[in-house]
Amino acid sequence: MDKPSLYAAERDCLWHPFTQMREWMAGEPIIVERACGATLVDLEGREYLDGTGALWCNLHGHHVAEIDAAIRAQLDKVAHSTLLGLGSAAAARFAGELVAAAPAGLRRCFYSDSGSTAVEVALKIAFQFWQQEAGGQHRGRTRFLCLTHAYHGDTLGSVSVGGIELFHKIFAPLLFDAFHAPSPYCYRCPLAREPATCAMACFDELARLARAHREEIAAVIVEPLMQGAAGMISQPPGYLRRVRELCDELDLLLICDEVATGFGRTGTLFACDQEGVVPDLMCLAKGITGGTLPLAATLATERIFAAFLGDYAELRTFFHGHTYTGNALACAAASASLEVLRRAGGTLAGVAERAAHLGRNLEELACDPHVGEVRSRGLMVGVEVVADKATREPYPWRQRRGWQVCQAAIARGVYLRPLGDVIALMPPLTITAAEIDRLTGTLAAALAATLG
Ligand SMILES: *Cc1c(COP(=O)(O)O)cnc(C)c1O
Repeated sequence: MDKPSLYAAERDCLWHPFTQMREWMAGEPIIVERACGATLVDLEGREYLDGTGALWCNLHGHHVAEIDAAIRAQLDKVAHSTLLGLGSAAAARFAGELVAAAPAGLRRCFYSDSGSTAVEVALKIAFQFWQQEAGGQHRGRTRFLCLTHAYHGDTLGSVSVGGIELFHKIFAPLLFDAFHAPSPYCYRCPLAREPATCAMACFDELARLARAHREEIAAVIVEPLMQGAAGMISQPPGYLRRVRELCDELDLLLICDEVATGFGRTGTLFACDQEGVVPDLMCLAKGITGGTLPLAATLATERIFAAFLGDYAELRTFFHGHTYTGNALACAAASASLEVLRRAGGTLAGVAERAAHLGRNLEELACDPHVGEVRSRGLMVGVEVVADKATREPYPWRQRRGWQVCQAAIARGVYLRPLGDVIALMPPLTITAAEIDRLTGTLAAALAATLG
């Protein structure tokens, strides 16, 4: 297809996610043609440093020789078969590697294709678990406890345990009801407390809900350490640990949604590792293949898995699966990516140093009169812009200040995408020192150009 036809197809045939298409069609799209390292190149040959890491999934930059070679080698064997009734060498291999790398106790890997389906699977497993566990004594445990501002994906189950008003309101009639505990959003505390003196009052509220509704709750679901799409809301140290202890005490299942935080993003292989937490179910996607192919996994403990075993006629089977479950190309890419991530001197080993460099730059950025707060864990960063730094007054949402800042950055050759008025920085974990300087330097220029 020639270039004019590509632009025409883009404008006339594509419907973009999370995009007001009238505005999009009136604009001039950047159409990515290729990429190298952390840089995207469009049809015009213009280059963009990708500050979003391909929307949070790219770990090692583009064109990692080992991953590309693993995909090619797998292609020469088989691209895809099925896990319904057949094993798959590539899927079995990665399941073994993933279980070995995951927090101890997570022993079974159920594949799917996206973060949303990984969450959907976890919710359905948790629900069915209580129907079958302990002779059905806890069949009333059918609901979920989640956090306000949570984001767990866009399918109806994952939206039901989410709390992003702007995205989710319209679908309210389609959703099931969940219990919502206040998000540990210290900068805008939902309980109007101060971090120095609150003694984690938001956790107490979660505990109160959990105790009051114990026999109705199948699982507590959280994004560990950092609520991503909510605007990079980082949890106080010890919060996740306390959620785990509470779930242990009440015998509730804990689902950790590591779709955004997993695979080195927060500085450890999994965010749970930082608090020594082992969830009952763990959801993985985004970084799982290093950002090359779609794949997701829901990991479960042996206790959960065992509740699904029985004679066929007992109907304990988990009746769920997707056509491309355990896709061989994606699993081969995931195996190679995990190796590149974890080997000596590999991607994960470099995160601390890069995060420290980025952190130093962010300290300067935090002095900007329009930056209310900078929140970061590893290379997962949110920069919240505010109308008034002293009062923390947000901009009216219709002004789309975060979006404007990102547009200004894009015009300067750095691709960024906001979460409301929080500018998310999720670069590939291999971003170089010079690129980090460009990323923050461009953001500073974009803030000055947009907010004055
Ligand atoms: C992105 C994300 C999801 C959804 O993943 P998709 O692959 O986009 O469906 C779920 N949970 C969290 C925490 C995420 O950041």
